[in-house]
Amino acid sequence: MSWVLNLVREDLRGFAGYSSARKAKVTGDVWLNANESPWLNAADAAQALNRYPEPQPQALRERMAQLYQVNADQLLIGRGSDELIDILVRALCNPAQDAVVHTPPVFGMYAVSARLQNAKLIDVPLVDNDNEFALDEQMLLSVIQAGTCKIVFLCSPANPTGRSIPRDQLLRILQAAAQRCMVVVDEAYIDFADQTSITELLNQYPHLAVLKTLSKAHGLAAARIGCLIADADLIKVLRNCQAPYPVPKPCSAIAVEGLSAAALEETRERISLTKNERKRLYSLLSQNKAVRKVYTSDANFILVRFYDAEAAFQSLLSNGVVVRDVRAMPQLNDALRITIGTPEENDRVIEALNAIRVAA
Ligand code: PMP
Repeated sequence: MSWVLNLVREDLRGFAGYSSARKAKVTGDVWLNANESPWLNAADAAQALNRYPEPQPQALRERMAQLYQVNADQLLIGRGSDELIDILVRALCNPAQDAVVHTPPVFGMYAVSARLQNAKLIDVPLVDNDNEFALDEQMLLSVIQAGTCKIVFLCSPANPTGRSIPRDQLLRILQAAAQRCMVVVDEAYIDFADQTSITELLNQYPHLAVLKTLSKAHGLAAARIGCLIADADLIKVLRNCQAPYPVPKPCSAIAVEGLSAAALEETRERISLTKNERKRLYSLLSQNKAVRKVYTSDANFILVRFYDAEAAFQSLLSNGVVVRDVRAMPQLNDALRITIGTPEENDRVIEALNAIRVAA
């Protein structure tokens, strides 16, 4: 048994979860054990949605395991990576006792899940050292060494700053966290980065967990498919903390198709186009008079500071372009986050920003 099981709430270590009809290891050809309808709904042409789905759809689990080059038993599929963040916090953190570390202004869901669980939240803010937002490594290491946190959430590349965490820095953090806490690396945007996935270190560091999603590069945000990749013993425990049937059958079916060789080929082309557009947009934004600063990005968005962010936001809106207003986030009171769209959509961004300059 891996030592990381010691990080699971004591009251949940032996928890078997809900004993669903689909978990029972029985066979037959007349299924009367789940109070399902024996008939298809009139709207259900071919998918046989009258039956509950597999709790962890095997075909998708194997496909994702192959894609991420891990074993299927190291992988838990969930309703987007959001659900997996929540399960991790619930299973590991005793309310009002254990702490979660996050690195604001990075992705708000870690804090939301901590709040819902009444876990303590420790801020280790990123440091804007002019060219890029970086981790405050010293502060992070001392928080880890203090021994009060159960989970450190890192995001690489980070949303909304766009920067990847250097591998040597991640290694130092993993080493400091050994026997102390989980280090979760959220790789939602890694498909757009040059850096390779940290999953290759999973067997070396049982307290490493990696979040993946099909919502970004794979274009399946509405299917709500994400996964957590971690120590197989921990995955077993987390699985028992999850809702009985978390993955709707139409969603897992389209995800399997969406990870076929042909679909992956197209996804790779789009990633490449996005990276080219990111470079073009970075250069155009850097030259734009309304822009104070553009951050380099390894993701499918760019973080931009403006001299007058309100004017920029309004000009974009009045041209029909909706970007993410991140001004309420710490350290970002003059910033907007712009997702990389199609070349035509990106042209619209530049046109709208040029319009402010003319009006000024
Ligand atoms: N992690 C990060 C860093 C994100 O930006 C997002 C979505 N905005 C998620 C996770 C959640 O993704 P999903 O659609 O898989 O729930």
